[in-house]
Amino acid sequence: MAIPKTMKAAVLFGYGDLRVTQKPVPVLGEGEALLKVGSVAICGSDPAIIAKGWPGHPPLGEFIPGHEFTGTVVAVAPDVTEVKLGERVTVEPHKGCGRCVNCLRGLYTTCLNYGKPEKGHRHYGFSSNGAYAEYAACHVNTLHRLPEAISFEEGALLTTAGTVLYGYERVGGVRPGETVVVTGPGALGLISAQAAKTLGAGRVILTGTREDRLAVGRRMGADITLNARETNVRDAIMELTDGIGADLVVECTGQAGPAAEALDLVRKSGRISYNGIYHEPVTLQLNKIVQWNLLITGPKAEGMWNTERAIPLMVGGRLDLKPLITHRFRLDEINLAFETFTGRAGGAIKVIVNP
Ligand SMILES: [Zn+2]
Ligand SMILES: [Zn+2]
Repeated sequence: MAIPKTMKAAVLFGYGDLRVTQKPVPVLGEGEALLKVGSVAICGSDPAIIAKGWPGHPPLGEFIPGHEFTGTVVAVAPDVTEVKLGERVTVEPHKGCGRCVNCLRGLYTTCLNYGKPEKGHRHYGFSSNGAYAEYAACHVNTLHRLPEAISFEEGALLTTAGTVLYGYERVGGVRPGETVVVTGPGALGLISAQAAKTLGAGRVILTGTREDRLAVGRRMGADITLNARETNVRDAIMELTDGIGADLVVECTGQAGPAAEALDLVRKSGRISYNGIYHEPVTLQLNKIVQWNLLITGPKAEGMWNTERAIPLMVGGRLDLKPLITHRFRLDEINLAFETFTGRAGGAIKVIVNP
């Protein structure tokens, strides 16, 4: 395949100013493959990146955001033997430096050389260029082969699925038959609800305030949904659990209120996974964590190869994320795509950009 010299890309020219322009196709470094981008999913973190940037992002006028993506390998650096031309892949946005003590332990999403490209670290779409473009250069250790059964669009959601699975790994998994409460029916929460069932939960209770999202949750496997506008969630969960509380609470709202309330939904010796992105400090009853013997964890993104392990689950239909894909746009329409996403126009959940 002939690779052109330039490509279309959505570049951040100033905060809040994302524009499609022509950029040089990335030049490959050691260990990198060039992808012809298939699909990119807009992430909940993208609007904030566009509005305010990200610590250490590439210079304005150069920075290409976009980090949940799939593509086809169209070129490789001379040292690359791990992937072949024509292979379809999904990408992990975190590429650890491979030399710090966290990377050596597999904890590459908490690489100690974060944001230091000279040390080999990359975070595509954050501290390095991403994929709202026709082409993207990615290190082979961020690539996962995409089976034919997974479309580029659904494959773009594997990053989020990997984050969900990493959250469960960090909190000790789901034990068969447990009652799992998931708060917040955004993409992360909806995938968390489905994954809990796949991992063997006895009962999944999904809470939220938007009925249309809760309905998607029921389609994706939630056994019970509670609308916090109509129901006292805490009372309802206590009633459903004989006054004991849930075995595991997965907090996905990112809001201070529900984050604090998670401690009121869990049983003694229960577990809480905080999966949201919390933009403000949250007051928690720390003494309850001690006295109730609680385990509290949080996953930093799609760590520990969970993206790879989400793939067979998706192939087998045990993770079916197609109901989350509500809108599709071309790269030229990227600002309309973002308006649709942030305004939740037409019930938008996951909005896909196809270069
Ligand atoms: Zn994301
Ligand atoms: Zn590292």
